[in-house]
Amino acid sequence: MNPNKEREWTLTECCTGKGENYKGCGKVLLLSVDDIFISKSNLQEFSYTFRCPHCGVFTSIPNWHLPKFVRRKAIEKFNVRSFSHTKV
Ligand SMILES: [Zn+2]
Repeated sequence: MNPNKEREWTLTECCTGKGENYKGCGKVLLLSVDDIFISKSNLQEFSYTFRCPHCGVFTSIPNWHLPKFVRRKAIEKFNVRSFSHTKV
């Protein structure tokens, strides 16, 4: 996939709070590749996640919703700086 196509990629997900506290606001959000990042509970278990701009709750996204380049970018971001929910 070329860089322009990657930038145009969007995903519709509902803010459910899955993976955090299940207290999402229920809004349907249009996400782009930059909205997806990795959160982890420990080194073995990590998940692809977005943060709702309305309520601030984190929701994890099933891996199969994401094309390979999106997952790769999230991993690259994760490797640059260790991500922590509590410090954002
Ligand atoms: Zn929300």
